[in-house]
Formats: sequence, C-alpha cells, structure tokens
Amino acid sequence: MQTLPDKGSALLAKYKRFQKLSLLIYALAAIIFVFWHNIPAAIVVAVLNIFLEMKLYVCPHCGKKLDCRRKVNEETCCPQCEKYLFRGL
Ligand SMILES: [Zn+2]
Repeated sequence: MQTLPDKGSALLAKYKRFQKLSLLIYALAAIIFVFWHNIPAAIVVAVLNIFLEMKLYVCPHCGKKLDCRRKVNEETCCPQCEKYLFRGL
C-alpha cells in the first residue's frame, strides 16, 4: 500500500472523525427521543446530522455525493468517476 499525499490523508482523517461524531449525534438523538420524549428535537438533531453528512461526503474529484456510512479507507474509489478518493488531490 502506497502512502497517501498530505491532502488525501487529511481528508481521510476528516471523514473518519466525522463518522465517529455522526454516531455520537445519532446517539444524542436517540437519548432525546427515549428519555425526554421530545420527538421534534430528536428529528432536528437527526436531520442536522444528515445535512452535515451530505455536505461532507462528496467526491473531491467530481463532486458526487457518497454513501455516508460506507467504510472509507486509503483504497476507496468514487462510484461515479472511479478515481481514488484520497489520491491525486
Ligand atoms: Zn468522483
């Protein structure tokens, strides 16, 4: 496996950080729903999370929206332009 260029590894790190953050946000939405029975607030939190995912997970080459919850790694390719997401940036 080749090492990634700086920009690519920074982007990969950002994706991975956000994957963890996203889980926390969904957990927060679940907590609001279960313990506070505040359904609108839970929906707002979940929608906000989806919105952030849509903004963040786009192909850096062609701008296609990516499947947010799939595993990303150094070898991940864009389904549309078939370039490596984290190479050639
Ligand atoms: Zn692409």
